[in-house]
Amino acid sequence: MEYLTFPEAGSSPELIARAAQVVRDGGLVAFPTETVYGLGCNAFDEQAVRRVFEAKRRPLDNPLIVHVSEDWTTPERADGWLREMVDDLARNFWPGPLTIVVPGGDEFAPSVRGGRSTVAIRCPDHPIALALLDAAGIPIAAPSANSFGYISPTSARHVAEDLGDLCDLILDAGRTRYGLESTVVEAQEGKLTILRHGAIPLERLRGSVVASVSVFDGALNDPGPRRSPGLHQRHYSPRVESIAVMPGLDLSQVLVAGSPLDERIRYVGYEERESMVPAQWSMLSFGSILDLEIVAHDLYENLRRFDTPDQRGLLILELSDEPGLGRAIDDRLTRAASGTILTSGAAVRLFLADKAGM
Ligand code: AMP
Ligand code: MG
Repeated sequence: MEYLTFPEAGSSPELIARAAQVVRDGGLVAFPTETVYGLGCNAFDEQAVRRVFEAKRRPLDNPLIVHVSEDWTTPERADGWLREMVDDLARNFWPGPLTIVVPGGDEFAPSVRGGRSTVAIRCPDHPIALALLDAAGIPIAAPSANSFGYISPTSARHVAEDLGDLCDLILDAGRTRYGLESTVVEAQEGKLTILRHGAIPLERLRGSVVASVSVFDGALNDPGPRRSPGLHQRHYSPRVESIAVMPGLDLSQVLVAGSPLDERIRYVGYEERESMVPAQWSMLSFGSILDLEIVAHDLYENLRRFDTPDQRGLLILELSDEPGLGRAIDDRLTRAASGTILTSGAAVRLFLADKAGM
């Protein structure tokens, strides 16, 4: 594996040319975007795409996002409504953290679409990603550069730790700006459906586009084929057991007398609530609930720091229950907790008693 570090401010034509060559030759390049680091390859090369799935140990029915440069347009054959909708979205949000799922895409390697008749497209807002796309001259298929189900990488170091030798090249351009994945929307005639909350909040979408915007519901409990792969119930997960709790619970009665568990509990919440957490637990902080942009930026870095390989530990993750970016943050925390949300102090007490076998 080769590791290239970009200068503090800006790009470097030589490093970009090297990375573009690796992509064109069918290699895997981990590269920065404004959301998280991606594990990229030539979107037309089925063999390269398969290597991405293998490196991540990602199930083949989970399609990849195709990253395109700023001059990408919907193919000529696209219907009028689709072109209008994509143009509207692109004008408002590209380059940026919005992924658009559109019908078609059979020009790409088959595994990119994961057996569907749709393809997910996005133009990333990061100078290195855009320079790489321009230099390679081909769309780059890329999921997040982490092993399947684990926490997404917001720095090149995360990629090196997690996938290290499985990449041909890692491009290091520091930490990513948003720290959360893109918002994924499915485009259908007259309407947009959010399949995955992300860096562009629902409210901003609604305020900007002509089409009506709804949120795909039932994702966590839907037993049928998943509409979108980011909807796995367990995803973005630390290795230590994790549960999520609603904000502002009365935690004064949750301690179970004599439980050996208490000192292994790490409560991760907002700094405003610090005084409400039992002194026996370690309190860790996401930051202030008043600045969810910072919370999002640091979220995955924090989850990695708070993770422990200790199988007996327990991470309690506090949801924000806020609109805007709060939706994406809570979505990731809920999946990190495999869908377990406790909604009262009494429920937390019961859960802990049960876990301690008391
Ligand atoms: P990641 O591995 O974080 O890059 O996730 C890729 C995301 O792309 C998934 O979570 C999906 O939400 C989305 N995606 C990619 N292709 C499709 C598609 N054809 N239909 C629906 N969602 C898609
Ligand atoms: Mg991912």
